[in-house]
Amino acid sequence: MKTVKSKFKFKGGVHPDYNKELARDGAIERLPLPKELAVSMSQHLGAPARCLVKAGDFVRRGQVIGEKAGFISVCVRSPADGKVKAVEKRVGAAGAMADAVLIDTTASLPEDAPPPPVLAPMDWSSATREELLGRIEEAGICGMGGAGFPTAVKLNPPPGKRCEYLVLNGAECEPYLTADYRVMLERAPRIRLGVEIMRKVLGLPAVRIAIEANKPEAIAAMEAAFADIEGNVEIVVLPVLYPQGSEKHQIYATVGRVVPEPPALPIDVGCVVENVGTVAAIADAVELGEPLLERVTTVSGDAVATPKNVLAPSGTRYADLLEFCGGATERPAKVISGGTMMGFAVSSLDIGTTKTTSGLLFLSRRRVFQYSSQACINCGRCLRACPMNLNPAEISKAMEVDDVKTAEDAHVMDCIECGACSFGCPAYRAITQFCRKAKNSIRARIAAERAAAAAAKASDGAAKKEAK
Ligand code: SF4
Ligand code: SF4
Repeated sequence: MKTVKSKFKFKGGVHPDYNKELARDGAIERLPLPKELAVSMSQHLGAPARCLVKAGDFVRRGQVIGEKAGFISVCVRSPADGKVKAVEKRVGAAGAMADAVLIDTTASLPEDAPPPPVLAPMDWSSATREELLGRIEEAGICGMGGAGFPTAVKLNPPPGKRCEYLVLNGAECEPYLTADYRVMLERAPRIRLGVEIMRKVLGLPAVRIAIEANKPEAIAAMEAAFADIEGNVEIVVLPVLYPQGSEKHQIYATVGRVVPEPPALPIDVGCVVENVGTVAAIADAVELGEPLLERVTTVSGDAVATPKNVLAPSGTRYADLLEFCGGATERPAKVISGGTMMGFAVSSLDIGTTKTTSGLLFLSRRRVFQYSSQACINCGRCLRACPMNLNPAEISKAMEVDDVKTAEDAHVMDCIECGACSFGCPAYRAITQFCRKAKNSIRARIAAERAAAAAAKASDGAAKKEAK
């Protein structure tokens, strides 16, 4: 194992104020179990889980309350014992509605309540690849870095594809967030074990552990944890540059490979990228039989009394996290779920956390810039900032008049929604939002075309059957 500096620097990127000192030095603190949890069935990328419980049901910690509802989906387990108060549609951090199970954790269970389900601890070294993948799936693990891609799917490349490099994402380049940093400091041996398990599942690929240079303590913790590991393992120290934590940019920075346009995936260039928190969750699921029921979330910002890294069960209401951190020092001008670059502004503290809630930020009026969008002055700053070589100015001008075709021709589907273009725009244009709008329109059109094609095929088949 050795530590090396990244040899590959991507084009573009920006340097926002990182503000990580607010929560960086606080050890992870466990939140006392909240009285109520709002557990969403949509905590991951892909089809929301199918809810299996109803109001009045008693649930046990670890019980499956939402079953996997498709190939790209994961199950949801109850983070605590309790009684289901209601199952209702609730808005998530990104604005989409999904079923949420409201659990009263103070309810007494009936005497004949079944025992909590148990996943037996496994010996990973003697378990087969299929058994390990099965455990990762039944533990409900998805990527905890933000995207929420089902981990068992990612670790099972399709026929003909092989993972040559397993890249561990410890960059955490988003401002304010320090959850991954604390996990690297405090859970390094779990990360090491998770890597051993993933290597076995993926057929012993080389390993690259990617960490930005502004986290020397995390680099040292990983060096100590991996010191005696065998095989091709390197810690790659990345320059401090946003969005260094993007999957595509991390692959380029660590192994110099370029992931082609969508629908190409990292596995198409022989890579699998996993967030460090996800890797630790894999170790817990396999060795301890502990499903993914909780995660570390950074609660920070200049309007929080005591910024912290909080270990909380999924479904914890944002209000409970704020209270645990001493409340707000003043009325926040903005509350953001995630980081300031890619996160979502939220208007309610009644939203429950999910497996991907990396941060919750409370920002005062001094930190939130009030602006009104103006006409593009063609300065070219967004083109220089874009790490995907796009022309964000062209896309934003097109979407101002709902010209989705021009945005599509300008490769908007390549946009990773990093916000680097909006960050430096002197005209304060909402470029990233225009990109999101274009991508959503294109996805909706493709889905409608597929549905129409499937319906036409079905009716064609029915007509042929009738003719026979
Ligand atoms: S256009 Fe997309 S990828 Fe490029 S800087 Fe803007 S948000 Fe990032
Ligand atoms: S940074 Fe803003 S003003 Fe400058 S070219 Fe891009 S959209 Fe136009």
